[in-house]
Amino acid sequence: MKICVLPGDGIGPEIMTEAVRVLQVLDLKFELEEALLGGCAVDATGEPYPEATRKLAQEADAVLLGAVGGPQWDSNPREQRPERGLLGIRKHLGLFANLRPAILYPELANASTLKPEVVAGLDILIVRELTGDIYFGQPRGIETRDVDGKMQRFGFNTMHYTESEIRRILRVAFEASRKRNRKVCSVDKMNVLECTQLWRDVAIETALEYPDVELSHMLVDNAAMQLVKDPKQFDVMVTGNMFGDILSDEASMLTGSIGMLPSASLDENNKGLYEPSHGSAPDIAGKGVANPLATILSVAMMLRYTFANEVAAGRIETAVKKVLAKGLRTGDIYETGTQKVGTREMGDAVLAAL
Ligand code: NAD
Repeated sequence: MKICVLPGDGIGPEIMTEAVRVLQVLDLKFELEEALLGGCAVDATGEPYPEATRKLAQEADAVLLGAVGGPQWDSNPREQRPERGLLGIRKHLGLFANLRPAILYPELANASTLKPEVVAGLDILIVRELTGDIYFGQPRGIETRDVDGKMQRFGFNTMHYTESEIRRILRVAFEASRKRNRKVCSVDKMNVLECTQLWRDVAIETALEYPDVELSHMLVDNAAMQLVKDPKQFDVMVTGNMFGDILSDEASMLTGSIGMLPSASLDENNKGLYEPSHGSAPDIAGKGVANPLATILSVAMMLRYTFANEVAAGRIETAVKKVLAKGLRTGDIYETGTQKVGTREMGDAVLAAL
């Protein structure tokens, strides 16, 4: 099993060090190789996703990423911005399925802006299609046209999905639900958009392959409301690129603790890019205070989804729960009555719990 490790920028290297220590203590047979992505790659090679990294990422079974970006690169030409590296690797590896769990450990229920009884124990998974939809559809643009007898600027985009694109993301959601509570809610806007009528039709057809999974449907506006009203009704939620972009951010904010949330982006063969949902946190970089748990939990997702090692994934997640139950907290999740620790101490505690 070959893993490409990309620590990236800002707090990336600090949190990645702890994630790699966790991986190593599990005593599985891994080959780890590190490479540059993002701002550090621009500084070293002039490119955010250099050839050496492309090669390593291509050859690996999975990629572990810290985070990229920082103010020192914000005024670079677009091609030399760290975020270009991120888009580049996602495209290059054909990652079409984004899996974002939103989990709120009972011990952290006060971190949410919602009432603890609404969110404590929340555990949902948003599956978002990443490569299609209105974000990529052609034609698109802003043109000056004669509309209603008046020359004016006209902005337009095209929403489209093929049935095979819909079917493959639905299958990812159904498969993921089999590792959970076997409930999938497919989100669309079929009352207005034909494209999402097709989405619903294909969801119903695909469900026939998964008779053991319960499929429900929800319109996206209602889904946005239900996520704040009663988020625990959901297990797996699957949707297109644009709706998923919005709903996955909404769902992650239900937990209030960005330092806790892992994510996965998968290709057709379950090769994946695993990374925390947060950014490079330049404001706290190099201080040893960043929360490494989102990255450590990304390792668990990698073991589950790419390497099908549910036991090892579960061990990491249980270790994280134990550390939280002991009252250890990094600054971002600290509250009175708990013990504040730094990045390394949090990593040590997870290792000890393992
Ligand atoms: P951010 O997620 O980096 O930080 C937002 C806030 O959360 C900051 O106050 C930060 O200190 C805190 N935070 C984030 N992760 C934390 C952790 N693990 N432990 C403790 N606190 C944490 O978002 P931002 O400030 O909007 O962006 C900073 C940089 O990161 C930008 O250059 C942005 O482009 C980049 N970014 C990268 C990714 C990625 O690599 N996938 C994602 C988002 C943003």
